[in-house]
Amino acid sequence: MTTPAEPYLLTPGPLTTAASTKAAMQRDWGSWDADFRAMTAQLRAALLQIAGDEQGEYDCVPLQGSGSYCVEAMLGSFVARDGHALVLANGAYGKRIATTLRYLGRQHTVHDTGDYLPPRAEDVERLLVANPDITHVVVVHCETSSGILNPIEEIAAVTARQGRRLLIDSMSAFGAVPLDVRTLPCDAFVSSANKCIEGVPGFGFVIAKKAVLNDAKGVSHSLALDIYDQWDVMNRTGQWRFTPPTHAVAAFIEALRLHALEGGQPGRLARYARNRDVLVEGMSGLGFEPLLTEAWRSPIIVTFFSPADPAFDFTRFYELMKARGFIIYPGKLTSVESFRIGCIGALDETVMRRVVAACGEALRTLGVASAAPAAVDLGAREALAA
Ligand SMILES: *Cc1c(COP(=O)(O)O)cnc(C)c1O
Repeated sequence: MTTPAEPYLLTPGPLTTAASTKAAMQRDWGSWDADFRAMTAQLRAALLQIAGDEQGEYDCVPLQGSGSYCVEAMLGSFVARDGHALVLANGAYGKRIATTLRYLGRQHTVHDTGDYLPPRAEDVERLLVANPDITHVVVVHCETSSGILNPIEEIAAVTARQGRRLLIDSMSAFGAVPLDVRTLPCDAFVSSANKCIEGVPGFGFVIAKKAVLNDAKGVSHSLALDIYDQWDVMNRTGQWRFTPPTHAVAAFIEALRLHALEGGQPGRLARYARNRDVLVEGMSGLGFEPLLTEAWRSPIIVTFFSPADPAFDFTRFYELMKARGFIIYPGKLTSVESFRIGCIGALDETVMRRVVAACGEALRTLGVASAAPAAVDLGAREALAA
C-alpha cells in the first residue's frame, strides 16, 4: 500500500493514503474548467449519499483549509450573533470549539466531562431545561484526543426533544462511523478530506440542511469562512469562490472511489474496527493498558497509558517506532501520560500486527520490563467510571 521507504502514518489525519490516491495528484487542473467543476459536483453528491440524504433536504459545501476552518465556518455561519451554544467537551477538539466561539464573540456554555467520559443525555437535558436561551448544542462525534466515541444519537434525541439545534464535529468519524441524517436529526455537521475518506489534506466540508443554509445569509463575520456565500456561489457557478485545492480534490475523487469499492461506510468501519481489535489485543499482550473502557473505545484511534517503568521515554519510543516504519502520535490528555495509535488510513490488520511487534521490540530496546501504567492513573479512570 505504501512504498517501503515511506512510513505508515498511524495518526488521525493526515494519514496513510492509497497509492492510487497519491497518483491522482499527478496532473494539474484549471479551477474554472468544466472537468474540475464536474469533480466538485461529484464529490458533493457522493458525500451527501454517504450521509444518507435521500430526500435532498441537505446540501454539501466544501471549503478550503483544514478541518478547523470548517468548524469555525459552521459555527460562525449557523450560530446567530445573539445565539447561545452549549458545547459538550471531553477533549482538545471540544475545547477548541469553545475557543472558536470565544473568538467569534458567540455566547457559549461548556459542559466538560473530562478525558474519559462522554456527555450523557440526562445532563444535557438538565442544562437545556435550566437555560432556555441556549439555541444550539455542539458535540464532537469521535473526540480524537482520547479516541472516545461520543453517543451522538442520544444527544441528538434530547436536543430535538428540547427544541434546540444540533451541530456536530464529525471530523474523524464521518465515512466510517454511522452518521445518517435520516435517523440522526441535526442542523449540520462537518468533516474533512484527510480523515476516514482517506484523502489528502486541503479542504473540509459542511453538510447542512438547505433551510439552515438559507437562514445563514449575512450571519458570518468572515468572508472566507462564510458557508452561505460559498454555497450560493458554488450552486450558481459550480466553482469554489477562491482558489480550490485542485490536487486534493482530484485525490479525494479517487479516495471516494476506493471508499465505495470497500463497501462504503459499513465496509470501512469493519476494517477499522478489526484494526483496533488486533491492536488492542496485541498491545494488551505486551502489558499496555488502553485509556478508555471498551464501551467508549472508537475504531478511529486508541490511547494507551504510558508505562510507569522509568526506562520508558516517549521520544525514544517514538524514534524506535519510526525506525521500524511507523509514525505514532503523542497523547493529548490533560492529566496523564499517554500516547495514541491510529486505526484509520490505508492499512489493515497485517500492518497492525507489525505495529504491535515493533512496539514489543522498542520496549526491549528501551529496557522496559513492564508496560503497565502507574496505579494512580488507572485509579483515576476507575474512580470516574464508577
Ligand atoms: C482532525 C480534527 C479536527 C480538525 O483538525 P485540523 O487540524 O484543523 O484538520 C477537528 N475535530 C476533530 C475531532 C478532529 O479529529
